[in-house]
Amino acid sequence: MRLLLALLVLAAAPPQARAASHWCYQIQAKPSNYTCLGPDEWEGSCQNNRQSPINIVTAKTQLDPNLGRFSFSGYNKKHQWVVGNNGHTVMVSLGDMASITGGGLSTRYQAKQLHLHWSKAMDRGSEHSFNGERFAMEIHIVHEKEKGLSRNASQNQFAEDEVAVLAFMVEEGPKNVNFQPLVEALSAIPRPNMNTTMESSVSLFDLLPEEESLRHYFRYLGSLTTPTCDEKVVWTVFQEPVQLHRDQILAFSQKLFYDHEQRVNMTDNVRPVQSLGQRQVFRSGAPGLLLSQPLPTLLAPVLACLTVGFLR
Ligand SMILES: [Zn+2]
Repeated sequence: MRLLLALLVLAAAPPQARAASHWCYQIQAKPSNYTCLGPDEWEGSCQNNRQSPINIVTAKTQLDPNLGRFSFSGYNKKHQWVVGNNGHTVMVSLGDMASITGGGLSTRYQAKQLHLHWSKAMDRGSEHSFNGERFAMEIHIVHEKEKGLSRNASQNQFAEDEVAVLAFMVEEGPKNVNFQPLVEALSAIPRPNMNTTMESSVSLFDLLPEEESLRHYFRYLGSLTTPTCDEKVVWTVFQEPVQLHRDQILAFSQKLFYDHEQRVNMTDNVRPVQSLGQRQVFRSGAPGLLLSQPLPTLLAPVLACLTVGFLR
């Protein structure tokens, strides 16, 4: 009954009112002829206090020895993926070909889709930031908790870790030939709801940093970064960025549009950082991460030992 009422209300509303209730990024909210809800007005759980993205202050992260290596399954499979413009981002549908376990996750997660966030500015396109520093782009691989393993499926549906997102920063560097199948697909999908198939095949690993570097990551509990901002995401933000040539990065802003009229270039599709609140950010236990600590933190114990030895 309630659904019926909602449908009636929706049908009765003038078209402008319906468009106005649709969410958009800040950059789209600006043009005066555009009526949509910017990030400050996003609905659902978006104004709650376990939100994403966040700024990660590396010195305040807590080492967690349980955050070991991931086991990637299907990530090396080459495939001509279907790529689409959904009006907010470019999305690669991953079918049921890849999954992950390990990495401190409670169970296996199936990869569902990959999408990106970006800007024309090389320090404004990522959603997460490290010590206030943002990157040119951010890649999100969205995974869902495998069903049927949980004893209580209904409880599982509302789990705080229902979704696992792997996030990778992108910085400017030399041309990355592995990314060309995706970059070249962009020309075929300028407007929302357009889809295409990549002209050559690529694996997920082709799009990521060296596998060896993937043991260095940050972990925290947060939300989806688009409405309705459901607070059900276990986030993994990898330390090592992917490198793309400036022209490859700019292609996303140049080839894609938010609107059917191709008036507003799709760029700055980035949600502002949210407050961390009472949450703790953890870092994986692999050696090497120590170097992200300030030097005095590392030297203090050494100096203490030396002093004790000297006094003896
Ligand atoms: Zn995302």
